[in-house]
Amino acid sequence: MGVLEVGQALGFPRAEVKGYLEAYLGMPLLELGAEADRQRARRHPEGNVSYIVDRNINYTNVCVTDCTFCAFYRRPKHHESYTLTYEQIGEKIDEAKELGAVQILMQGGHNPYLPLDWYVGLLRHIKENHPIHVHAFSASEIEIIAKVSKLSVEDTLRELKDAGLDSMPGAGAEILVDSVRGRIAKKKTDTAAWIAIHEAAHRLGMRTTATMMYGTGESMEDRLEHVLQLKALQQRTGGFTAFIPWSMQAQGTEMEGTPPATGVEYLRMVAMARIVLDNVDNLQVSYVTQGPKMAQVALRFGCNDFGSLMIEENVVSATGTDFIMPEPEMRRIIEDAGFTPKQRYQDYILVEDEPERARSYGVALV
Ligand code: SF4
Repeated sequence: MGVLEVGQALGFPRAEVKGYLEAYLGMPLLELGAEADRQRARRHPEGNVSYIVDRNINYTNVCVTDCTFCAFYRRPKHHESYTLTYEQIGEKIDEAKELGAVQILMQGGHNPYLPLDWYVGLLRHIKENHPIHVHAFSASEIEIIAKVSKLSVEDTLRELKDAGLDSMPGAGAEILVDSVRGRIAKKKTDTAAWIAIHEAAHRLGMRTTATMMYGTGESMEDRLEHVLQLKALQQRTGGFTAFIPWSMQAQGTEMEGTPPATGVEYLRMVAMARIVLDNVDNLQVSYVTQGPKMAQVALRFGCNDFGSLMIEENVVSATGTDFIMPEPEMRRIIEDAGFTPKQRYQDYILVEDEPERARSYGVALV
């Protein structure tokens, strides 16, 4: 099935999908960007660009899924494999809070030695000893935890939520087209399962983000199909807070040699996403993969959020791509692009509007 047929199966009129496709493929770049910028301005008329201060804690790099684009993971028993202890994770959270973090993002490999009890114990340990918003465990991690523990996805999510999981990141989506997934990540969650896990999380009242990793050799139709999958789920649940696309960083991976996606492709991608995903409020730039200057331009192509000021990042940097920046630098970059930087929480409430929430985590606000 092509994107027109998939779009129809998802409930979108053929003419609507055709219109998106024609704009994405054929509209001059600056016209496409101007339309996306108009939509960004209508949705966020105050001229703010938000960001969150958080720490990305990769609790284990043990993984059995062997994605061809991944430089981060190690097979079980590899001499560089690791799993952090609860205490090590707690120390990282305390360090992050001292630097102003209001959230931790926890993601790891598909570690077959970690059952649900390990995750439940970790979440309880964090909530009791290092309270903070926990944004953690992508759909494919949820799937492996459920399999290892012989539980349904719903029961797994419910137990994690009860133990303290606040929201879920959208990682592992790559391209939500099974023919592409079969080529780059054949052991990973398929499209229907990725969507079903996010839908189950939304049903339980958890908000999640949605991502896309493009530039794997997929077509532009495939990219539009991915965005339509997200739009259809958002129509059913309203559970996505944001969409975050980035291009594959292939250095040091099995896919090294794949021609890198260009800056023009990135701008077309974010502009198309802003226009098509009219039911998702926030569109994040990926300065970690695109660099600060392209991120500034993307703020005029539909993006309204700078994502996270990551105190630690291990997955993209494993490929040699490393655009981590200090907070004053991020604020300057946003201001120089003509916007007002605003620190936020995971749910996009601004920290200045609810300072007591940060204080309840023990974060001292300046
Ligand atoms: S991307 Fe995630 S699931 Fe795939 S190999 Fe890397 S750590 Fe494992």
